[in-house]
Amino acid sequence: MISSAAVERSCVSIIETIAKKRDRGELSAEEIAAAVSGFTRGQVPEAQMAALLMAIVLNGMSARESADLTMAMVNSGERLDLSAIPGTKVDKHSTGGVGDKTTLVVAPLVAALGVPVAKMSGRALGHTGGTIDKLEVIRGLRTGLTPKQFVRQVSKIGIAIAAQSAKMAPADKKIYALRDSTATVESIPLIASSVMSKKLAAGADAIVLDVKSGGGAFVPDAARASDLARLMVDIGAHHGKRMVAVVTRMEQPLGRAVGDAVELAEAVATLHGRGPDDLVELCEILAGHMLVLGGAAADLDEGCIRARQGIVSGMGLAKLKEMVVAQGGDPAPLDSPDLLTRGVERLPIILDRPGLIVGIDARQIGLAIRNLKAAAGEGRRSCGVVLNRKVGETAESDAVATLLYPAGARDTAFTAAACIRAAFQTGEAVPESGPRVAATFSS
Ligand code: URA
Repeated sequence: MISSAAVERSCVSIIETIAKKRDRGELSAEEIAAAVSGFTRGQVPEAQMAALLMAIVLNGMSARESADLTMAMVNSGERLDLSAIPGTKVDKHSTGGVGDKTTLVVAPLVAALGVPVAKMSGRALGHTGGTIDKLEVIRGLRTGLTPKQFVRQVSKIGIAIAAQSAKMAPADKKIYALRDSTATVESIPLIASSVMSKKLAAGADAIVLDVKSGGGAFVPDAARASDLARLMVDIGAHHGKRMVAVVTRMEQPLGRAVGDAVELAEAVATLHGRGPDDLVELCEILAGHMLVLGGAAADLDEGCIRARQGIVSGMGLAKLKEMVVAQGGDPAPLDSPDLLTRGVERLPIILDRPGLIVGIDARQIGLAIRNLKAAAGEGRRSCGVVLNRKVGETAESDAVATLLYPAGARDTAFTAAACIRAAFQTGEAVPESGPRVAATFSS
């Protein structure tokens, strides 16, 4: 680890660092640490950091540089100490998807089966949703826990899901905002270091990563998504973490719900045993890996079976209720998920030319809901879409989807409905899609 005093002593020039990466050079740990700490402390201006980020996007980074970038971001803030919590603490992270509400199902399920889950989650990024936005649909629920409250709750009931603290990996927060506005998000070393800096700072012993590939993912190409998965596993293993990364498909949205309230309702329905097949399958796989890493299952098959039993027995749902109550939330919608979308306006979306659905563009749906939320203000959490048809199903003259929106967002709702309608493709045959998990990497 390089201290900030050492960085200052090294007098690394940011201009030389940018030029070196522009010319395809390999940056030293000192150069990376100086750029990250300088930018976080306001000594390196946005223009220079943006130039460096673009040079990284274009020319890449070696595994060693990526690991050093990750550590520089971890060192920009505090690290959570989970050692007071007995057992192997397992974390889970998705690189971002549309309709991806797996954390809300998997975390309580795994905790109910005896593996402590101390989970720091994020908000929506780009066209993808965020777990914290979905959880905050529940009236009264606190996501801003102090480290002490967080550790105490996991010790007591085995689970907490809290918003990523601003004090942990603050460099990532600042750099991510700059990447978002400079078209520098889609880079394997930048995504790997962003994700892993937060995971390492959050202190779990083992981490399961869901790396999305396909049109709705930040890294659409499957081979590049595998490179990203492998790099993150290597970074975690280098820091003594047990790691599993699965590469999963994100062409059409996961499940049938996209949007904060409807996704929470679908996650709750899944814990009631009424989840859509694709969501249930992925939740079982992720929970299965977490149970293996946490020592509660001998192998993935046993882990998946235990996860299924955790749903059927109601243990996962009971654990989610316990967590909601511990964090000050109203548990009523967990018995009646329909309460979450009561009183919201609905707009049916009907295709001009019905037929076999051969594709649903996840990115376009994610963007439509993001734009609708931005226009809806206070009512943004109720914005969402429920897909009545998915790929492989046939649309007749009825609605393929139903848009939900607050009354004040009526005009934008019509625009969102048009975008969602355009996201549905009909045709003669459904393209081959392969298995849900394209590849698995572990340390
Ligand atoms: N998720 C993150 O946390 N960071 C990225 O860069 C992309 C997805």
